[in-house]
Amino acid sequence: MTDALPLGHPVYRAMPTTIFEKMSARARDTGAINLGQGFPEGPGPRDVLQAAADALLTRSSQYPPMPGLVELRTAVADHYARHQQLDLSPPEVIITSGATEALCATLLALVRPGDEVLMLAPLYDAYIPLVERAGGIPKVVTLTPPDWRLTRQALEAAITPRTRILLINNPVNPTGIVLRDEELALLADLCVAHDLIAICDEVWEETVYDGHPHRPLIGLPGMRNRTVKIGSAGKIFSVTGWKVGWMCAAPALATLLARAHQFLTFTTPPNLQWAVAAGLGWPDDWLAEQRATYQASRDRLAAGLAKAGYAVLPSAATWFLSIDLRASGIALDDMSFCDRIIDEAGVAAIPLSAFYPAAPATYLVRLCFAKTDATLDQAIERLALFRKALG
Ligand code: PMP
Ligand code: GLN
Repeated sequence: MTDALPLGHPVYRAMPTTIFEKMSARARDTGAINLGQGFPEGPGPRDVLQAAADALLTRSSQYPPMPGLVELRTAVADHYARHQQLDLSPPEVIITSGATEALCATLLALVRPGDEVLMLAPLYDAYIPLVERAGGIPKVVTLTPPDWRLTRQALEAAITPRTRILLINNPVNPTGIVLRDEELALLADLCVAHDLIAICDEVWEETVYDGHPHRPLIGLPGMRNRTVKIGSAGKIFSVTGWKVGWMCAAPALATLLARAHQFLTFTTPPNLQWAVAAGLGWPDDWLAEQRATYQASRDRLAAGLAKAGYAVLPSAATWFLSIDLRASGIALDDMSFCDRIIDEAGVAAIPLSAFYPAAPATYLVRLCFAKTDATLDQAIERLALFRKALG
């Protein structure tokens, strides 16, 4: 037996614990209302759980096929044909253990050492560690609040002859924005002009509000054969712990993705795959009702916080909205604010600076509204008292 590595050893610094885990652990320890990490309150929708329970008892629990159950691959392709007018075939869909595995498999499959990967900040926390582990070099374009606009000039300035991949998230966590049609067209144009492969993390595609559609980049001219589209059943069916996701791409790319997936998890629990396949076949009302519920929760939290003296940024999608501390007249940075509300108000939130590799905006705080009305009301009341006490 050797001694444990000393605490200062570089291996401990390579990958810090995520802000989501840190904040959720503090919320568990203190009993704070957790509006930090994004997950809906409660066990999950009853019919989704029932479908998984039925499959667990009546279907095989042995290894399913490596790229996923054909029934689920077909259901995903059909879902995208109905909802996003895409023409994917089942072999172009590879089932993974969550979108996180899909991201990892895609990057391991496609990034060669020294390739530059273009990304937009604020960005989801897994991107940079995964790109670096795959041997890629992150090239990050930082967007500016409150409208987070993409410009051709900023993107072109970041592209070099070594840029091979564009990795985007749309709708965007943490900002709750949806890329505009002209921004998607610009990205497609740049991908084609610079021969980039696009990796599109679209896990929030079913949580777009106010009647707006989700537009996948893979559907734009020139993108069908150079895009990997990633989705997550955890988000679509409000069961974040299930970790069932997928990556969709034209056959040549899909083959490479499957080969990376086979050495990561190889397969994903079959009962959950059966349940997701069943759920994707339910009438469209099911998702529409769920979306309407989240939209009402967004509006409830936004209105309550506004009344309590917080400046709330608009949220068009996801389970998140942000408050602007500066515009609220609060002279705390995002991290100090989150530290204080967890201890003094009993509410956990996420500082947006955690979503930047450098030069973060430090005055925005993300709150998750995928909670019951009672929980949201209680959180609003606590944050209102805290705001008052700040003066
Ligand atoms: N990408 C984004 C943008 C996310 O917000 C999340 C989780 N919230 C994931 C990926 C991970 O999804 P999964 O839980 O399916 O791995
Ligand atoms: N995606 C979730 C969020 O943004 C967190 C998932 C995780 O903890 N890895 O809150």
